[in-house]
Amino acid sequence: MSNKGLLIVISGPSGAGKGTLCKALISRNNKLKLSVSCTTRRPRNGEVEGINYFFVEQEKFKDMIEKDELLEYAQVYDNYYGTPRFFVDKNLNEGFDVILEIDIQGALKIKEKYPEAVFIFILPPSMEELKNRIKKRGSETEESFLKRFKCAFQEINYISKYNYVVTNDVIEEAVKKLESIIIAEKCRVDRI
Ligand code: 5GP
Repeated sequence: MSNKGLLIVISGPSGAGKGTLCKALISRNNKLKLSVSCTTRRPRNGEVEGINYFFVEQEKFKDMIEKDELLEYAQVYDNYYGTPRFFVDKNLNEGFDVILEIDIQGALKIKEKYPEAVFIFILPPSMEELKNRIKKRGSETEESFLKRFKCAFQEINYISKYNYVVTNDVIEEAVKKLESIIIAEKCRVDRI
């Protein structure tokens, strides 16, 4: 029987509400940890170093790549994002389940390294609602908004690479679905 935790990869278009869902999941389950990524993006209003991201300069990011400190990394929109390896390996080995909230390029790389991970795609209830959510966030310029919105259409083509899809319409319902997926995955005969 494996004592290792479950690796859960969550992707979906910007504005689908991945962050809100992940926060709700970890607040209800103390065996679940959220990996904090490194990014070269500037912090948005209210984002906190070490909680939302580790905000780093390009030089530092390159250094982490060279030292093989990132489990995966990708350029998303105009910035680099990557998953620090140490946190993920340590927690999985200690039996914690770990969530990676990453883009599709990153998810595909994780699939190669951790085929046993669970891949979940979060959809907004509609593209109109997605547009409203990104706009409501108020943190993007018109250019950045358009980039994110256009990307959403391409990203949705990759759903078939994932094991599950959850529509984030009512948050509570979406969280329940995610919790059910995690419970079911941990009961799979090929995992015990
Ligand atoms: P945002 O700038 O809105 O916080 O994130 C932009 C995109 O980068 C989102 O799709 C998010 O899931 C993705 N992302 C965040 N952290 C990582 C990471 O460590 N690796 C990869 N590949 N994507 C990430």
